[in-house]
Amino acid sequence: MMYISLGGIIWGMKPQLIGNGIRARCPDCGGAVTTFEFDSQNSGHGYILHDTQHHYDRQTFSRILYYLGKCAGCGRGGLAKIHDYGNVKDGALEWFFPMSIESLEVPTQTPEPIKKEFEEAELCASVGARRAGAAMLRSTLEKVLRDHGYTERHLTVNIKNAGEDQVITLVLKRQISDVVKVLGDEVLHQSWREVTEEEFELAHEYTQNILKNFYDYPDTVAEILKEKGRLVEKVNSEEKPEEVKVEGS
Ligand SMILES: [Zn+2]
Repeated sequence: MMYISLGGIIWGMKPQLIGNGIRARCPDCGGAVTTFEFDSQNSGHGYILHDTQHHYDRQTFSRILYYLGKCAGCGRGGLAKIHDYGNVKDGALEWFFPMSIESLEVPTQTPEPIKKEFEEAELCASVGARRAGAAMLRSTLEKVLRDHGYTERHLTVNIKNAGEDQVITLVLKRQISDVVKVLGDEVLHQSWREVTEEEFELAHEYTQNILKNFYDYPDTVAEILKEKGRLVEKVNSEEKPEEVKVEGS
């Protein structure tokens, strides 16, 4: 896990609902993990309660709560959105601000545009936009394969070809095929459905495995691809701006 602070957004850990507060990193405590305590002593920081039967993360809940929490370390405020059945301790946390983003480490040689795509997936998921996050993970996979010469129109064909070239293992091939089937095709091309936290986390992990596969030892990967006669299209190559010809000048 890495930890970076970006203007109030903290990368490195997903906030967790624990008893009477939220366990998360606090930007004002230098990113330390702390507890943002709810109003247990009736000290006045309070909450907003909305009684409503609803679904979240494929479960039924009876209330939505917006809880103010106070950092046990420095006193900074935080706001949590929680779904529960009448007892906040058993609730499900949808989001928490200051934002803490669960991020997985990527190899240092990962091209910047691919790394950014992966991080955007994490950013989407951190605010509950898991469908958008899933689409970004799919896009990350597409770019990684394209970067290594797998340029067929359909991602499933590219995955199949990478498997046949043995540049990815059968395990990895199965993992990303599952990701693409569920989070790519179903989310992007079929009718609306929720992407659960569990589904996103699995896809997140599998996509990290693909990044490790290709960018931990890029020289070995390049050797295999050369043997297989793959043309490598570098995503991170500098794009030269098109020359603009101005008539009359
Ligand atoms: Zn703090």
